[in-house]
Amino acid sequence: MNTIEIENVHKRFGNIHALRGLSLSTRKGEIYGLLGPNGAGKSTLIRTIVGLYTPEEGTVTVLGKQMPDRNVLSQVGYMTQASALYNELTVWQNVAFFAGLMDCNDKSAIAAAIDFVGLSDRRQTPVAQLSGGMRQRLSLATVLVHKPDLILLDEPTVGVDPQLRVQFWQHFRRLAENGVTLLVSSHVMDEAERCDRLGFVRDGRLLAEGSADELRERAGTHNLEEAFLVFAGEAAHEH
Ligand code: ADP
Repeated sequence: MNTIEIENVHKRFGNIHALRGLSLSTRKGEIYGLLGPNGAGKSTLIRTIVGLYTPEEGTVTVLGKQMPDRNVLSQVGYMTQASALYNELTVWQNVAFFAGLMDCNDKSAIAAAIDFVGLSDRRQTPVAQLSGGMRQRLSLATVLVHKPDLILLDEPTVGVDPQLRVQFWQHFRRLAENGVTLLVSSHVMDEAERCDRLGFVRDGRLLAEGSADELRERAGTHNLEEAFLVFAGEAAHEH
């Protein structure tokens, strides 16, 4: 069973046709990178996957359930750049709060999530006293505390310093090795190499899909930026 199965999804905002017949699927335990420039439709797609938007056409199936379906959300983690943390609460209280929202009251799960992102020695620190990098790590802990099978990360490394970025990708890989599926959006191609498979998105369409090596080979280019342009050029001819 594919963890995400998207078929021919269309989403419009007034005159803006944000998703134009997009189809893709993710396999269990892979890191799938959704790559494309700003405005390509990545956030809209992720919001549609979690059921925040209902497509006008097409279907979205998550972990075998057709979306929107609130019951599936207990198995899904969703992190955006603007993920909310409560400044006056401690690290522990923040993770416990998000765990509670997902009906998870398991103290060992809370401790494990905090440990996973290396904040065990900060458990009792209020968020207001954390560095920016620590807050981003804490945000990650809040989306994985309930042990989701699928984690959606919308541009998780924007504004993240290089060292923390490397750490984040190590965390993502560890999760994938434990069978978690991760869908990660990005507009920077240098992160693409860390994904198992990539989907190039532009103008609400999937231009091409495959591993970084496959995409370079198919496009006949040395790097992914050039490959993206080749596929974008082909799409422009078709439409
Ligand atoms: P990305 O995440 O790839 O940068 P988005 O999904 O945010 O792209 O945006 C795709 C297109 O849909 C853009 O033209 C954007 O302006 C538009 N859009 C996204 N969300 C909304 C919204 N809530 N209302 C109106 N237009 C939107």
